Amino acid sequence: MNTLKTRTIALGSLLSVGISGQQDVQAAGKEPKTPNFIIIFADDMGYGDVGAFGHPTIKTPNLDKMAYESQRWTNFYVAAPVCTPSRAGLLTGRLPVRTGMSSEKRRVLFPDSKGGLPEKEITIASSLKQKGYATACIGKWHLGHLPQYTPNAHGFDYYFGIPYSNDMDRVGTENYMETTTKPKIEYFNVPLMRNSEIIERPADQTTITRRYTQEAVKFIEQNKKKPFFLYLAHSMPHIPLFRSPEFVNRSLRGIYGDVIEELDWSVGEVLKAVINNKLDKNTIVIFTSDNGPWTTFHEQGGSAGILSGGKGGTYEGGMREPTIFWSPGLIKPGVIMEMGTTMDLLPTFCKLANVTLPNDRIYDGYDISPVILGTGHSLREVVYYYRDTEVFAVRKGAYKAHLITQSEYGPDKPVVQDPPLLYNLNVDPSEKFNVAKDHPEVIEEIKKILEAHKATLTPVENQLEK
Ligand code: MG
Repeated sequence: MNTLKTRTIALGSLLSVGISGQQDVQAAGKEPKTPNFIIIFADDMGYGDVGAFGHPTIKTPNLDKMAYESQRWTNFYVAAPVCTPSRAGLLTGRLPVRTGMSSEKRRVLFPDSKGGLPEKEITIASSLKQKGYATACIGKWHLGHLPQYTPNAHGFDYYFGIPYSNDMDRVGTENYMETTTKPKIEYFNVPLMRNSEIIERPADQTTITRRYTQEAVKFIEQNKKKPFFLYLAHSMPHIPLFRSPEFVNRSLRGIYGDVIEELDWSVGEVLKAVINNKLDKNTIVIFTSDNGPWTTFHEQGGSAGILSGGKGGTYEGGMREPTIFWSPGLIKPGVIMEMGTTMDLLPTFCKLANVTLPNDRIYDGYDISPVILGTGHSLREVVYYYRDTEVFAVRKGAYKAHLITQSEYGPDKPVVQDPPLLYNLNVDPSEKFNVAKDHPEVIEEIKKILEAHKATLTPVENQLEK
């Protein structure tokens, strides 16, 4: 088969049916067919934990193949370096500071939290529902477990998963490090839900990746005749680490590697379901992670590879994620070094699905469909690195200024950097060489950008402190 030709034809057909030439299709008497979307979201996986992103001892053949066949993004970010605000940013296309989903006091939601993603926020799922998409959330939610905040309340037809992190609802007397690094299922009384019903408690985490995968495959098969959006948010590799019996002691990288290799197997099953149901010409699958590796857990945490820092912090390792866009039919293959963020997914999906964004709110995402289709460039020039409700760093083009620094989880207080630390991320992605002295004009420009950004913020009720 001539792959290049197939890609060209498929890309042309998407452009004519979904984006620019809808009239041609309508004139031919056919309904415009918009793409299906699948987001596979890992939890706490580092930039360096995928073979295609350089890991020497974790085998990820499915992710590597996915990257080779389509697009590997090397400058793709999340909205925040911890779970709850990162997920809020992904699903709403808005910075968590605008939705009340970030806080210094409690960095994420907990089982005793009373807040969640406000009802007035519009998720990717609710947006796509307007065009008749079938929608499912499978996996970890972490945007509020009370009825008004659940996936079903936010545009998802179907939900199967855990409502918050897998290390919560901890029972027993052992200390936290002990229970999380030598875990047993019964230490974590986390419920497994199907829609609003608890079907298992504690969730059997050894089989959770496998069961999420089975649910995902079933959803794809059941909805192959209509457009769908699947948000598959794995609980792993967030500690405590669990994997199915067949993945025990499989990886040279130890238990963390076993867990990633099971996730990679899961990716393979999802892609197989897409291909076997002949949906690969019209489905976009995105793989990324909610934040960087949890380095507090040493060997049981992941690796940010060439990047410094990890989960919880605003160095690159906390927020730049190993990201792959796959669709043999639609996406122009290559390595993408332009900037993108998870907040760009909502505007991009809406563009491809012909959904008009409401104009009553500020979106922080851009439509990056021209980059994935190979027809243009990313409009994104700036990334804000929020730690909770404060901007700690700003990237403009190649340069990143750290205005405030603080270790990810240490006892130290934030340190205001004056002048800010400045790194050229194209030349120095590891943030080792401060070039502030040589580029005062860049620092001035970044300060102005930040000032203008802050003027767009309005106070909102804090959901994490309720
Ligand atoms: Mg996380």
